[in-house]
Amino acid sequence: MFENIPGEVGLVHVGERIRKNDMYVELGGPEIKEKFELVKVRPLEDVHDGAITIVGPDLADMDSSKKYPLGILVEISGKELEADIEGVIERRIHEYTNYIEGFMHLNQRYDIWVRVSKKAYNRGFTTLKYVGMVLERLLKNELPIIERMQITFYTDAEKISPVYAEAKQSYETRDARARGLTDDDVDVFYGCALCQSFAPSHVCVVTPQRYANCGAISWFDGRAAARIDPKGPIFPIEKGECLDAEKGEFAGINESAKKRSLGEVNRVYLYSAFTYPHTSCGCFEGIAFYIPEVEGFGIVMRGYRDITVNGLAFSTMADSTAGGRQVDGFHGISLEYMRSPKFLSADGGYARVAWMPSDLKEQIKTFIPPSLADKIATEKEVKTVSELRDFLIKNTHPVIERWKTEEDAAAGEHAGAVQVFSGGDFPLTAGGFKIIFKNARIYADKVVIIPVQPKKPGTGE
Ligand code: SF4
Repeated sequence: MFENIPGEVGLVHVGERIRKNDMYVELGGPEIKEKFELVKVRPLEDVHDGAITIVGPDLADMDSSKKYPLGILVEISGKELEADIEGVIERRIHEYTNYIEGFMHLNQRYDIWVRVSKKAYNRGFTTLKYVGMVLERLLKNELPIIERMQITFYTDAEKISPVYAEAKQSYETRDARARGLTDDDVDVFYGCALCQSFAPSHVCVVTPQRYANCGAISWFDGRAAARIDPKGPIFPIEKGECLDAEKGEFAGINESAKKRSLGEVNRVYLYSAFTYPHTSCGCFEGIAFYIPEVEGFGIVMRGYRDITVNGLAFSTMADSTAGGRQVDGFHGISLEYMRSPKFLSADGGYARVAWMPSDLKEQIKTFIPPSLADKIATEKEVKTVSELRDFLIKNTHPVIERWKTEEDAAAGEHAGAVQVFSGGDFPLTAGGFKIIFKNARIYADKVVIIPVQPKKPGTGE
């Protein structure tokens, strides 16, 4: 199928990482502002089937020491195609381009990040046209209702701007449409198992009010995909009996999670980051992370490059969050989920959010309840958890009510004892083991403080 492309194309290459030293060139990524991938359904006569165009320098013309913008515009037409399918096909760009040996594609939509390896380039992978050829063949093969397809790559910093604006507008229109529905309005949710190739126990549950973690699949997208491609990775899930309306637990979701994760995940709370949180693969747009010292959440999005308020970077927390596991207090989320009234609703919603980066706060400010907006700290106000505590007290954040309740409960339970330690992860290293106490609080009946005297040299005392 791909004899005329230098290198292999196949599932075996999904997950291949290209490190800086092995990289020929990088396109998109955190340092490039304008980057996107977009699929649009167009009228038949507007699509020149098979055309692959590059606007700007091609791979062979690039300077390895620079980073380039990247726009991938896939225009399709077909009598049976509907605009609903755009988001689903768009998400396949990530999967199918990663089939290419020596080509790495990360993230989605306005966040894409691509690297081409030196090996691939030296083997003759010198044009983005090869990427277009792979996309065209695999997408048409999977969805024969695509009758025509043309693909344009934008790598020119000026020419990408108007198309980038169109892409942003298209994402917003899609997302806004899904905002009109609630989870109570429908009987069927959709599951997506596309990321099981690298997180085998992960299944996204996409509901009208809980957008997929990657931010690329809405409930409408799920519905269209399941209808058009019933054997594909997106499938309907009957909600079944509602077991807990507050936490968002449904019998149908539990059943589906158990089956699809081969017994690894038996229960799912859609609207909570605790106990049975929705699993996270690795494609999440952001992380909601619990900060035990303040009983609240911090939020960080992919692309935030500084250290967050708990002293950890996004990449460090991403390792703890990903892999299809249910990790208490580390929760993969999408930006659109933050716009939903169900956003962490079982845990308190925005009344539980204590910290987020300032640019994120600006981006979602119309979705944060006005009474809370000034009470949520950013990197501009605080740098550490202890500064965060002071900020929350000063601004009477509702989360401080929880401290009282927690402290009262602890005081009752440990009457007469002294709290000697309270923290997030408390490691204890002994005898070749490291034991980590999560969210530890240690109480003692008595605390004895003895100053340690320096030893006298030569005496051993
Ligand atoms: S993150 Fe979820 S919805 Fe998005 S592609 Fe992966 S499994 Fe599908």
